[in-house]
Amino acid sequence: MEIRVRNGDSLWYYSRLFGVPEKLIMDSNPGIADDELGISKTIRIPGYRKVPYTLLAGDTLWNISTYSGIPEDMLFLLNEERTVTHFSVGETIYLPIKETGTPNRRKTFYDSRQLDLDIIYLQNIYPFLRFQVIGKSVLGKPIHEIRIGHGPRKIHMNASFHANEWITSLILMDFIEFYLLSLTNGTELAGTTALALYEQVELSIVPMVNPDGVDLVLNGPPQDQRKNLIELNGGNDEFVHWKANIRGVDLNNQFPANWEVEKIRKQPKAPAARDYPGDSPLTEPEAIALANLAHQNAFSCIVALHTQGKEFYWGYEGLEPPQSEEIAKEFERKSGYKAVRYVDSHAGYKDWFIQEFRRPGFTVELGKGINPLPLSMVDEIIHEVRGLFISLLSYHLK
Ligand SMILES: [Zn+2]
Repeated sequence: MEIRVRNGDSLWYYSRLFGVPEKLIMDSNPGIADDELGISKTIRIPGYRKVPYTLLAGDTLWNISTYSGIPEDMLFLLNEERTVTHFSVGETIYLPIKETGTPNRRKTFYDSRQLDLDIIYLQNIYPFLRFQVIGKSVLGKPIHEIRIGHGPRKIHMNASFHANEWITSLILMDFIEFYLLSLTNGTELAGTTALALYEQVELSIVPMVNPDGVDLVLNGPPQDQRKNLIELNGGNDEFVHWKANIRGVDLNNQFPANWEVEKIRKQPKAPAARDYPGDSPLTEPEAIALANLAHQNAFSCIVALHTQGKEFYWGYEGLEPPQSEEIAKEFERKSGYKAVRYVDSHAGYKDWFIQEFRRPGFTVELGKGINPLPLSMVDEIIHEVRGLFISLLSYHLK
């Protein structure tokens, strides 16, 4: 929400008035310090929406403030008047409404279009976030990254490597919003303030690694590729169990960590709905984007979300650092999910990350059931893993 700056106002005052940490206001307005406030005409306040309101007979800013609980000065700031308190009936003014979240997301088949809309929403409401497109899918869809916070510790989380596990995108976005609301409302998390986490951790989020695959599962094939995709899908025109990217390569079998082992033993020897590792490692743009991201950032830890099984994998060939086991114990305690050190699997993102950087990496299998997990399980999964996500952010503070 944008407001017009008045003489004598300060960031500290806005922080008090709107109940939003000053640090978040500063990060929402890069380059604006208190002494330059007078020069800038407007300033963005995170966590708020401007909602139009049509004045009724007898309305004054004073009585609107009394009935709504919105401080009168907020109304003045939004409506650019300090002196006039009476307006005409029928005139539209703006009310600042603090964001409370978008619970409807939980009931949505979450395709790449929904994610694009959510990105626009987050850009509007939380201008202290940083966004970038880290690559394009085979069909040219953006692979979005969201950054939250500025800490010395960088943590990366991603979802929807596998197309039919698209529910992981929705759950990750739900957690992001929960964290953002905790920040703008000054809430405590894990015995500390959300703001303390924001100042300690730089969180990198790629909510949908495989947008083409997710869209195929949810919306069916693009017309011009229908014939080819049905063929790759074993003659089936139902794509609900499709895991791969749109070229029939399993993105979580694409990484150079004993890729050759998977290449030999995986059943499909050509592109398919699942399990085909590709002709060589890192041939697919989605996998390349994620590998580049890890190379360009010294992530302390990564977490890749999959479904299903209510367990997580934390080791790879004995290359994981001792810290991995400590974090695994904490995850297990917080979520009730089973910590599993090794699975007989190679060439996955977390395998490669551990091998390449010798830092903690985790594959978390959310929920239990048959993929794709139904939307009706979303609330339950969110309840199970929120503690795990928070402990991931707060682990280093202990
Ligand atoms: Zn998976």
